[in-house]
Amino acid sequence: NRKIVLNQRPQGEIRDGDLLLKEEPVRELRDDEVLIQTLWLSLDPYMRPRMNDSKGYMDPIEIGAPIVGESVGRVVESNSANYQAGDLVTVYSGWQEYCIIPGDAPMVYKIKDQGAPLQTYLGVAGMPGRTGYCGLMYVGKPKAGETVVVSAASGPVGTVVGQTAKQLGCRVVGVAGGPEKCRYVVEELGFDACVDYKAGNLEADMAAACPQGIDVYFENVGGEVTRAVAKLLNPGARVPICGYVSAYNAEDASKVETPFHVFGALDPKPEHRFFLVTEWQDQHQEITALLAGQVASGQLKYSETVAEGLENAVEAFKGMLKGKNFGKQLVHIAD
Ligand code: NDP
Repeated sequence: NRKIVLNQRPQGEIRDGDLLLKEEPVRELRDDEVLIQTLWLSLDPYMRPRMNDSKGYMDPIEIGAPIVGESVGRVVESNSANYQAGDLVTVYSGWQEYCIIPGDAPMVYKIKDQGAPLQTYLGVAGMPGRTGYCGLMYVGKPKAGETVVVSAASGPVGTVVGQTAKQLGCRVVGVAGGPEKCRYVVEELGFDACVDYKAGNLEADMAAACPQGIDVYFENVGGEVTRAVAKLLNPGARVPICGYVSAYNAEDASKVETPFHVFGALDPKPEHRFFLVTEWQDQHQEITALLAGQVASGQLKYSETVAEGLENAVEAFKGMLKGKNFGKQLVHIAD
C-alpha cells in the first residue's frame, strides 16, 4: 500500500520533504472491517490548512499520518454485512492506494449508478458540488434577477454555484485567473460574464461586469477579489463565505486580512457567514442525486484535471493552490 504522509509541517508553500511517499503491506482484515482500493483521489484546497499546527474547524493532520482526503474506491474484501466486494463508495480514505475501515464507519456512501462518471462524485456531484449548491441556496438565498458573483469560478464549487444560480434566473458573474478560464466560464458554463482578476484592472472590470451591483457574493478566494467585490455590494447583500484559498499558503495566518475583516468593516454590513458543507449532511443523498442527475443529462457542465498515480499527487496539489488546475483536480490511481 503506497501512501503520502505528512513528514513535517509546511511553512508557507509546500516544499520537498514536507510530504513523503511511503510503502507498507496491507494488513490482515479483522472482523467487521472492509478493505477498499482507491480508484480516484480528490485533491481539495482545505487539505493545506489541515497540514498546519493551528486548530481550525478541523483537527490538524498528525505528523506521520496520511494526508486527509476523500476518494472513490472499490470494496476488495469485506468482513462486514454492510458491504460486498465490488461495491463502489466514496470514503475518506486519505492519500493512499488502499484503506481499511470499520463496517459502520461514518461518511462512507455507496455510489448509486445514475450514469454520471465515477470521479464526478468527488467533484461537481460530490462534496464540492454540494458545497456550492448548499452555500448558494441556504446562505446566499438568491432570487431571480439578482446579480450573483462567484470566485474560483472554473473550479468544482464555483461551477455548481454559477450554473445553479443561472437555473434560478440570476445574472451570474464569475471571477477566474486568466483568459482561458474566463472564456470557458462564459462560453461553456453559460455565465453572463467572467472577470480575469489577473488582468490588472480588477476594480473597473468588476464594476463593468456588475452594472446593477452585487446581491450575492459566493466567497472562495479572499484577497484582492474580496476587496473589489466589497465596493459593489448592494444593501441587503448576502455573502456565503466558503473559503479563501489565497491565504492557505500564508506563513502567518494571523496576519491575513480575511473576508470577515473586509465584510465586517462595511456599513451597512452584508449578511455574511462562514459555512461548512456538513451543516447539510442530512441532505447528502438527495443533493448528490440531484447533481449526479444533472451531470448524467449533460445539464451540469464541468471540467477536470487528472494527475496519473499517487506519486504525482503532491505536485498536482501544489499546482492547484496556484490555479494550475482547470476544473476539479483529481488523481487517478486505478481502474
Ligand atoms: P478549485 O478547484 O477552484 O481550486 C482552487 C482555485 O482557487 C484555483 O484553481 C485558482 O483558480 C483559485 N486561486 C488560487 N489562488 C488564488 C488567489 N490568490 N486569488 C484568487 N484565486 C485563487 O477549488 P474548489 O472548487 O474545490 O474549492 C473552492 C473553495 O471552496 C476553496 O476556498 C475551498 O476551500 C472551499 N471549500 C469549502 C468547503 C466548505 O465546506 N466550506 C467545502 C469545499 C470547498 P484561478 O486560476 O481562477 O485563480
